[in-house]
Parts: sequence; C-alpha cells; structure tokens
Amino acid sequence: MAFGWIDEQDRARREAGLVRVLRPRPAASPLLDLASNDYLGLARHPEVVEGAVRAARTWGGGATGSRLVTGTTRLHTELERELAEFCGFEAALVLSSGYAANLAAVTALAPHGSLVVSDAGNHASLIDGCRLARGTTQVVGHADPDAVRKALTTHDGPAVVVSDTVFSVDGDAAPLAALAGACREHGAGLVVDDAHGLGVLGDGGRGAPQGAGLAGRADVVVTVTLSKSLGAQGGAVLGPAHVIDHLVNTARTFIFDTGLAPAAAGAALAALGLLGREPERAARARAVAAELHARLTAAGLDAVRPDAAVVSVRAPSPEGAVRWAADCRAAGLSVGCFRPPSVPDGISRLRLTARGDLSGEQIERAVRVIGETRP
Ligand code: PMP
Repeated sequence: MAFGWIDEQDRARREAGLVRVLRPRPAASPLLDLASNDYLGLARHPEVVEGAVRAARTWGGGATGSRLVTGTTRLHTELERELAEFCGFEAALVLSSGYAANLAAVTALAPHGSLVVSDAGNHASLIDGCRLARGTTQVVGHADPDAVRKALTTHDGPAVVVSDTVFSVDGDAAPLAALAGACREHGAGLVVDDAHGLGVLGDGGRGAPQGAGLAGRADVVVTVTLSKSLGAQGGAVLGPAHVIDHLVNTARTFIFDTGLAPAAAGAALAALGLLGREPERAARARAVAAELHARLTAAGLDAVRPDAAVVSVRAPSPEGAVRWAADCRAAGLSVGCFRPPSVPDGISRLRLTARGDLSGEQIERAVRVIGETRP
C-alpha cells in the first residue's frame, strides 16, 4: 500500500505515547495560559483587535496577491517603516510569517560558494533556511563564539553566521556581542532571529540586537515574528536598505507567497504603537519571568534561568513531560510541552511563557499546580 509506511511510524509514536493532537482553543478558555507566545498580553488588547478590524474593513480578508503584484497595501509599507524605526534598522520587509522571514533571510544571503555557520540550538525555520540555501552549512555547538570563529577561519568567500537571539526551547540568550565580534573579524554577516526578543529585550522591547548595541549595523540582519509579543501574525526581516532590496528581488518566500493579510498588518501596527507608548511592558514580562523562575526553583523544580520571557522546566522523560502537561491542564493550567523530536538535545521540558500581564496570584497558582503535578 502506497502510504503503509505512515501507519508503521504512527504505531511507534502511539506506543511511545508521543502522538500530537490538535485541540481547538475555546474563545474564552477557563485555563490559565502559560503556553501561548502572547508575551505582552496584546493579542486581545482592544487597540490591537481594532487595528485588525479596521484593516479588514478597508482592505478585505486577504492580501489578494504577492507583495510584488497586488499584495502591498499602505499598511504594509507603514508597518515596514515603523518596525525598522522601532528596532533601529535602516529598512524592513514584511512577510507572511516569521518562518517565511527566516527562509527568506538565510536563502537570500547564502549564495553558491558561501558558508553558513548555524548554532546547533537554532529554531527549525533557521535550520530549514540552511537546508534550502545554496551555500554550505556548518553546524556549530550551542552558543559557542569560539566554534563560530573557527568555522569562519576555514572558509574563503561570503559567509553568514545564523543564530536565534533567544533560543525557543530553553529561553537562553545567544552571546550576540561575541558573535558580532567574530563576524566583524572575518567580514561575515550576522543573521539573528529575534522572535523571542522583540517586545521583551532591549530598550522598551526594541529587541535583543538593540540591547546588544547591534541595531543599524551594516553587517547585521534581524528577523522577527509579529505573532508573539505583537499579538498579531506575520514576520519581517530588518537590516541595511540594500540587503532588504536584495530580498525583494531574490527571496522566494517573499516573491512567491501571498502578502501578509491586511488585518495582521493592522494588528501589528497597533501593537507597535502600544509598545512605543508603554515601554514598561517589556520590563514587566522580564520581571514575571524572573519571579516565575525564583518560585519554581524554591519549589525544588529544575527550571532554567530565563534571559527573556520563556521559562523552561526539565522533565524526567518524554512520556513524563506529556503526562505532566496533561495533569497541569486537568488542574486548570495550560503549559507548553517540548519533547523529542522537537528538542535539540533529547531533554523534555515544560515550557512556560512569562506573560507580562500575569498577576502575582496567577504566578503563585501556576507554580503550585506545576509542583503538585510533577511526575
Ligand atoms: N523563530 C522562532 C525562534 C520561533 O520560535 C518561531 C515560532 N515558533 C518562528 C521563528 C516562526 O515564526 P512564525 O510563527 O511567525 O512563523
């Protein structure tokens, strides 16, 4: 049978208790949410929702075409201007997702004969960008600038170093200044994915690159998602204007993809406006992460010290992690569960998002449930 091999794989997954299920989320969930990436609680902010509604009324339900044909509205160009200005870069290009932005940046900046140096802990979308790129990829140890330097030394020709700014599994930060130093020494470009840094790190949430003094540098390109701190959907690449123009002309996930839905652009613009007016939101998310970590550690749980708004708690086994997350859910708490094959090191974790709008009582409740349900 043509697809018989699928059933064999499925059986193995079932036996290991690792089948993934899609569970529709009710509009008004009774669960306390520490699983979503809505770091600043903006996805349901009235101004963000209104931004989406107004955009849909004006422009319709979809972008109607590629950005190069009919898919660019005034909202898209305004969002690009605002994002670039907020994060401190010369130009920006908005795409339909952060995933597409990473594919665009890595493939467009790694031509034939080039070297891509990629951190072993990078997000799947950066890994896929490396797989699609025409250059040769060398994977180096996690957060290891010396290994990056060594890889760059062996190569003659264009090179880019690719890294998350905040790694999505453990929430730890990349050594951005050291990576930028290595790149500068070797004339390489630095491409960093700030999906988990925008809105949380840097001055008022201007992102990890801005916090590390890398904003606006000629050799630095940043990708972001609009779907986490900004509570919308979509992605963007930020960098020098000539790099962004190059992407417009060559990046396949930009050229051959329908433009971002205007409602998502409208929502992201409203969220950016809020961040500009209320810069304390970023610090609040970081403070919630620190408090969550301190309380989990005090309760004897193995939590990784957070560098942004992701708090990771180690679980004893993949099955233990799945059961732990299900028990949390039964006790009214929604948490993320990361386990093989979605983790780089085989270690399973609960993944908690320290939303800036969580109250002290909610943080306390979350820690109590996690402690009481530990396998
Ligand atoms: N990069 C990282 C580090 C992410 O965590 C994610 C989302 N899981 C993405 C990129 C993809 O962004 P999007 O969801 O907007 O496609």
